[in-house]
Amino acid sequence: MSHLMDAREVSTRSSRHPQLKAIRFSLAVATLVAAFVSVSSPAQANWGSFSGGPWIANNIFHDVTFSNVEEPQKTATLWAMDNELSSTVIKPNFCSGCANFDVKVFDSNLGDNGAVAMVQCPSSATTGGSHPQQWCYGQHLTYNLFYGSKYATWDQRRSRACHELGHTVGLRHTDVESNYPDPNSSCMVPRSDIQPFTYTPHDKGHINDKYS
Ligand SMILES: [Zn+2]
Repeated sequence: MSHLMDAREVSTRSSRHPQLKAIRFSLAVATLVAAFVSVSSPAQANWGSFSGGPWIANNIFHDVTFSNVEEPQKTATLWAMDNELSSTVIKPNFCSGCANFDVKVFDSNLGDNGAVAMVQCPSSATTGGSHPQQWCYGQHLTYNLFYGSKYATWDQRRSRACHELGHTVGLRHTDVESNYPDPNSSCMVPRSDIQPFTYTPHDKGHINDKYS
């Protein structure tokens, strides 16, 4: 399966197809999203439209389980669940070894593919709903430890976790909304050179609106 997840790719697709409706992309493409690549050219798109962007979760109960995740990434993920996701209507829950989950987290070495981390909706997942409420139950969140220098500090790790978990509930990047207030203060900023590790009130508003 190819992994199309570069932030620029997502933005380009969204810009090209602003009216894109509930299309179930071919699996290879449906899995895009994420990426913590330094994106130098902000694109315009519809924040919160979710067309061509992240899938949302099927409901507010967000069960997260770990595959082969090392302690540093595990701790950061749990921190982001307990401190950030939980400050929205989403109810994150660590689900140890469970077969059914909203998100399974992996440490992996995906090589120099341009993505420091990514979220996918794999073929094993269950999907439903229609745009803009298209959901994916059984998402995969992968930390690409090829870029070890991007996981060196606590702030980097929790920023990464906040960002990717944000994608699992449907948040896109701050640079796809032209009037985003102070985009660099959100963990959804698609940059790896700064480490904001919180959702802004703006981000939370999108999440809360989506699941209310
Ligand atoms: Zn991203």
